[in-house]
Amino acid sequence: MAFDALGLDPQILSALKEQGYTTPTPIQAQSIPVLLEGSDLLGTAQTGTGKTAAFVIPIIQHLLSQPKSNRRQVKALVVAPTRELALQVGENAKRYSKNTGLRTTVIFGGVGQGPQVDQLRRGVDILVATPGRLLDLENQGHADLGNISHFVLDEADQMLDMGFIHDIRKLLRIIPAKRQSLFFSATMPKSIIELSSQILRPNYKSVRIAVDKPTAERVTQCVYQVSKKEKPALLLHLLNEIKGAVLVFGRTKHGCDKVVRILQKEGVSAAAIHGNKSQNARQKALKGFKAGEIRVLIATDIAARGIDISGLEHVVNFELPNVSETYVHRIGRTGRADASGSSISFCSADERGYLKDIEKLISQEIDLVSKHPFTEGAAIEWSDPENRKPIKQGGGGGGRGRSQRPQQGGGSSRSNNGNSRVARPAKRKW
Ligand code: AMP
Repeated sequence: MAFDALGLDPQILSALKEQGYTTPTPIQAQSIPVLLEGSDLLGTAQTGTGKTAAFVIPIIQHLLSQPKSNRRQVKALVVAPTRELALQVGENAKRYSKNTGLRTTVIFGGVGQGPQVDQLRRGVDILVATPGRLLDLENQGHADLGNISHFVLDEADQMLDMGFIHDIRKLLRIIPAKRQSLFFSATMPKSIIELSSQILRPNYKSVRIAVDKPTAERVTQCVYQVSKKEKPALLLHLLNEIKGAVLVFGRTKHGCDKVVRILQKEGVSAAAIHGNKSQNARQKALKGFKAGEIRVLIATDIAARGIDISGLEHVVNFELPNVSETYVHRIGRTGRADASGSSISFCSADERGYLKDIEKLISQEIDLVSKHPFTEGAAIEWSDPENRKPIKQGGGGGGRGRSQRPQQGGGSSRSNNGNSRVARPAKRKW
């Protein structure tokens, strides 16, 4: 099926053509027709599947069919959990609607509200927002949400994880009850299903896109056993071995800053992105990284979900996440839109429990890279009984049934994303 077959307005089709989109992705093929019919939608899908166009395109089509006199009232509201995701959705909405005369604005916290208020005053058709700033501006009388006919809650599970439930409830009391609602979440635990039932009309439609085996299949994964203190050296070593941009995930803001300093000292262009950075610094870092001016972006999990960095080949888990699902979100930053990608994880002795949890979640054992310059330090750290204790209670038992020493030798048939200079992975027996 081609986009032409969906009965879309020529102004939308020409914009999609300019984007180089010819065929709808599965989520687009399934969602666009039901959304054009006016149904509510429950979508189980991650960003990276073409989700944004799946909801933005029908919204644009609906708005175009409304009388022109309705223009410049907020008719469509998309709420996203992070500022970065809101910006990204806004950018895409602008691209898809560029030939239509509809106006899209993005509002989020951490920056002055003046320019956002000005844009709202000038009139907006599609508003993309993070919850806090949206309610703030509504409360001050700057955002009129009384004409909304299309409401999208994006990345709902992350929204709840970030504690936005009260803001969402408040928002639901403000926006009109008569509306089309779209609800997207990467996962569907009970709390999310409950929330969706408060938002969607009972006869909503569902689409579910490959969440059982989301990213793990598209991305080549390997793990290095390494001592905590040698992680920076291993990262520098890898940066010499692999080419291109690298997104590095750390657990703490302080830790991310420290890695940036180490890399910069060694002449690597690096920047950090985390919650303690000003919004302008966050945007500057992300923009520089996307533009190829910054080679290594070191991020906390603020950047684990949703962010689309086209062509990103490598994700490094400098520290493993303590929530296994986060691992899947992190590695999903690479291998997007059917491209290949690689995820390289550093596992120190105290992180074994996390690794075990991750492997359980993705139902696969991640290949171990046994030959690398830092195996000795790892062996010492891993043999210290103190380090055998998991850093999380109930986190998988800290390597039960696994030897404490890194494996020597061996090798698997799996290439490390085709990069022969990186040590080859071996099957792990610990
Ligand atoms: P999203 O899940 O909305 O973040 O989209 C993931 C990536 O897929 C983005 O870089 C989009 O530009 C791209 N994309 C979305 N739909 C299509 C399509 N039909 N054909 C090609 N690329 C697409």
